[in-house]
Amino acid sequence: MKVKVNQEACIGCGACTAICDAVFEMNDEGLSTAKVETVEEANAQEVRDAADSCPTGAIVTE
Ligand code: SF4
Repeated sequence: MKVKVNQEACIGCGACTAICDAVFEMNDEGLSTAKVETVEEANAQEVRDAADSCPTGAIVTE
C-alpha cells in the first residue's frame, strides 16, 4: 500500500499521528506528512483507520 497526505487538505488535527505514529508525523507547519511512501503490512490496518478517521479526507492510499 502507498500513502500520501494531501497538504492542501490537512488541517493538522493530529488524529492520524495519534493512530499511527509509525507512518505519520507532524511537520514544522503543523501538518501531517507520511514518513514512508510504501506502508509495511504490519502498519496497513492502522493507516486505513487513520484514513477513515481523517476529517478532511487528506490521507490518500492506493
Ligand atoms: S487526520 Fe487528516 S487532517 Fe488530521 S492531521 Fe492527519 S491528515 Fe491532517
